[in-house]
Amino acid sequence: MAREAFYITTPIYYPNDRPHIGHAYTTVLADVLARWNRLLGKDVFFLTGTDEHGLKLQRTAEKHGVSPKEFVDKMSAIFKSYWEKLQISYNRFIRTTDPDHVETVKLALSKIYSKGLIYKGVYKGWYCTSCEKFYSEGEYIEKDGVKLCPLHLKPLEWVEEESYFLKLSEYEDTVVRALESGIVYPPQYAREVLGRIRKEGLRDVSITRPKERVYWGIEAPWDKSHTIYVWVDALLNYLTAIGYGRDEDRFKRYWSVVHHVIGKDILWFHTALWFAILAMLELPPPRRLLVHGFILCRGVKMSKTIGNIVSIDDLLETYGSSDAVRYLLARFSTFEKDMDYDPDLFRNAYNAELADTYGNLVRRVGVLVRRKLGGVLRRREVDEELARVADEVKHDTMKLMDRYRVSEALVRIFDLLREANAYLNRKEPWRAEDPEPILYNAMEAVRVATNMLAAFMPSTAARLADVYGFRLLGLEELVFGSWESYRVKEAPILFKKLRA
Ligand SMILES: [Zn+2]
Repeated sequence: MAREAFYITTPIYYPNDRPHIGHAYTTVLADVLARWNRLLGKDVFFLTGTDEHGLKLQRTAEKHGVSPKEFVDKMSAIFKSYWEKLQISYNRFIRTTDPDHVETVKLALSKIYSKGLIYKGVYKGWYCTSCEKFYSEGEYIEKDGVKLCPLHLKPLEWVEEESYFLKLSEYEDTVVRALESGIVYPPQYAREVLGRIRKEGLRDVSITRPKERVYWGIEAPWDKSHTIYVWVDALLNYLTAIGYGRDEDRFKRYWSVVHHVIGKDILWFHTALWFAILAMLELPPPRRLLVHGFILCRGVKMSKTIGNIVSIDDLLETYGSSDAVRYLLARFSTFEKDMDYDPDLFRNAYNAELADTYGNLVRRVGVLVRRKLGGVLRRREVDEELARVADEVKHDTMKLMDRYRVSEALVRIFDLLREANAYLNRKEPWRAEDPEPILYNAMEAVRVATNMLAAFMPSTAARLADVYGFRLLGLEELVFGSWESYRVKEAPILFKKLRA
């Protein structure tokens, strides 16, 4: 029987600068879900990449005195290097300058054009070059008579130009139906978009730019004097990566199970625009759109102007390892609310959970097996109580992960580690005449928890499996009390305590 498929995507990032904690947050969340689904035995395809066209990049490159292509080559390599540091297990890193993507965009838009869903008009409006987005009245901020981008607080430009429009208005019902079908998680974000559609309707959108202004983009297949608007170009990457128009079987297999992970700032594009484009292509909407909030820094939104952007290098340096960074981002993740990056909170969680609960347990068990048993630990009678806790934790964790409750799942896994620490304190193997049964059960708790934690902290899990002599298994095979014997080579200190 073919394995169940699972397709997960991050947004493709705009590589005008290095990735920061915000990019890391989205990407780590997606990676945890990808790795978890691999542990479930699924055939996972995990996609991330860079969104490389558009006016903003064209201008940034000009400012650096290089061609846009040279600039994005350099920047996409930087993104890749950070994902390597954070152990992001993507199956493809897509770039919108990749030839197969350019082909997909042309193919998809030709299809839509031939259906009469694209027409020529004139676009006028206030435009933010940083957002690559027009702002209408009520959306922009007005200060001293100057219209400002609500996100960038920079003056908007008045733009009036010939453009092609997509008949989004004809797809209002389709988009509304998709939003009401429960695919958006958490549902509050579907309600938000529905509210906006009810208020202003779904309007046709401009989807091309004159090439003389924006040359850095994919040419419209029906009119070479226009380039495709970056958002349309970018969204189609989700189709390119799984073989749209080239490998129908593969495409169908993954499209039916696609999970998009996005931040709420790009919600409108990923619902109104994306669901309509998919319908125009006669494709179903995504299986799931997972939307998370912003990252705040001690309650304040991060911005270049304030200068409070936390870099990935900062995080790695502060918490010492990519596993610790991944753990903490997942631990404080929430889809419902904005995530507040509070270094005190992060440090406390690191010390209490990673260093004390997990690290101490691992070290205690390892040291005792070496000291009392010469490093060899054989399978002994299973402690029914601890086995029951392990089973329940595994069961609950699977349910929580299935509902994207990533942080709660982590807390639940740590219940098993806490229970194992309490078990050791109660049983006192250091005094016992025959400490092996006690140590075997404590070790089984370490193994079962570590195996589940492999989705969150892959190098820690791999390292422990190596030095304690066990193998990481698929969740189906992961049963407390089933491992035959351990050979403890060393008892590592996994996480050194952090000082304030
Ligand atoms: Zn803006």
